[in-house]
Amino acid sequence: MMGCKTEVWYLAHSGFALRLDDTFLIFDYYLDTCDHLERALASGVIDPEEIKDSKVLIFSSHKHPDHFNPIILDWKEKLPHSKYFLSSDIPKKYRYPWIHLMKPHEVYEDGAVKVQTFKSTDEGVAFLVTLDGIRIYHAGDLNWWHWDEEPKDRNGDMAARFKQEVSLIQPYQPIDIAFLTADPRQEQAALWGMTFFLEQINVKAAFPMHFWEDYSINGLIHKASADHPQLKKVKNISARGQLFTLDLK
Ligand SMILES: [Zn+2]
Repeated sequence: MMGCKTEVWYLAHSGFALRLDDTFLIFDYYLDTCDHLERALASGVIDPEEIKDSKVLIFSSHKHPDHFNPIILDWKEKLPHSKYFLSSDIPKKYRYPWIHLMKPHEVYEDGAVKVQTFKSTDEGVAFLVTLDGIRIYHAGDLNWWHWDEEPKDRNGDMAARFKQEVSLIQPYQPIDIAFLTADPRQEQAALWGMTFFLEQINVKAAFPMHFWEDYSINGLIHKASADHPQLKKVKNISARGQLFTLDLK
């Protein structure tokens, strides 16, 4: 059994990196620039040199440019033992033989690592990764996408598909760390998906994502936690490169 101390870095948008013992995980890396700052985790940027002593697992939930940057494929040269889990919608030209392509509702298992996928309500997959008993969920674009200007039946269909998918995740509780969409463009509906998820699923620690560097979403989450106490589990992100140390006992 590994140690319970887990480090989480906020990289940008839906991009996060985690270190659990000797394993390093990267989700939905897209922003590879950091003006005037050193290229390092502390700036929200991956330099393969910095993580080359870890077992590295790299995930991309779908091909949208705010979730997938082909630069991640260049790291393979410096990280020959890294493993890639990419959504099956990633364009053909990026599908190298060492990549595990995953469709929704698939399972990959290899020793201490189990990767399960769920179906996004937009494109691609959400990931549930189990590593030595620690469960990590990354939503990708699986969210309750409610837009006021959309017709009622479309919003209704979206709500039903989102809730159905969350019900499929329920058997895998508790989840230790969950990365959940909180998109300010959805206005009054920005926290619906996150709130529903946290009220249905037992999560130990959650992080907001997909907020386009609009950090005011953290204040909204805090405010809403008065009526929805489960939102108190959501960490407050204030900068790119921010490091959180979690004790997952
Ligand atoms: Zn997205």
